[in-house]
Amino acid sequence: MSFLAPLLEVQDLDVAGDTARTRSAKLPERVALPKLEGELVEIESRLATAIAERALKQAEEEQIDQQVAQVARDIETAEVERYSGKRKNQDEATAHDESQQRLHEKQTSLEEREMELLEEIEAVESRISEQESSSALNQAELKKVVEVIGKVEGEVASELVRLADAREKIAKSVPTHLLSAYERVRAQPQKGGRGAAMLADGRCGGCRIKLPSLEMSRMLAEPEEALIQCPQCRRVLVR
Ligand SMILES: [Zn+2]
Repeated sequence: MSFLAPLLEVQDLDVAGDTARTRSAKLPERVALPKLEGELVEIESRLATAIAERALKQAEEEQIDQQVAQVARDIETAEVERYSGKRKNQDEATAHDESQQRLHEKQTSLEEREMELLEEIEAVESRISEQESSSALNQAELKKVVEVIGKVEGEVASELVRLADAREKIAKSVPTHLLSAYERVRAQPQKGGRGAAMLADGRCGGCRIKLPSLEMSRMLAEPEEALIQCPQCRRVLVR
């Protein structure tokens, strides 16, 4: 076994950790979550508006209902008085009839407004139930999304603990200066999280560059714990 084989094992664990973290970070649910939350705020605001509108219309309808009842009582009272046996002259009789006529007209117009309001309330009610079902759907979806994120985060967290434990054991057998060179390269962009590569058939296993044979002989002659890096990608080469 190559002296530096454990470095490649450390790298496998590190890459597995990257993959696990990416899996969590790139979850489509993370994009869906704020979108659903934003939609819910809008739904709840439309719902609150509709509920407030219904309350206003109901209050108005109630008021008109009372006015209708009052007008009916007024008509009734005037009628009782008109025919109570008290004698009335012609002018009084005409005035009575005209007044009753006006009250009847008022009653009709109030009743029409009341009907309109009842229809408007019905329309608001249907908007309310639409928004309520949208809200319920949205919340069910939100719950699912939060559960998926939580589940994956849990899995990733235990996976990372497992990987860290394994890494700690293996990394002990890698000389510190090689490990830190590996970590420096690994942290660089465009390295795919890989700071080490196998040197095989005269090629760097990372960037695939073919090393000149003189360079190869020099590298192979170096002591095992010597830091050898690919001249092109700077990865620590494992002979
Ligand atoms: Zn290379």
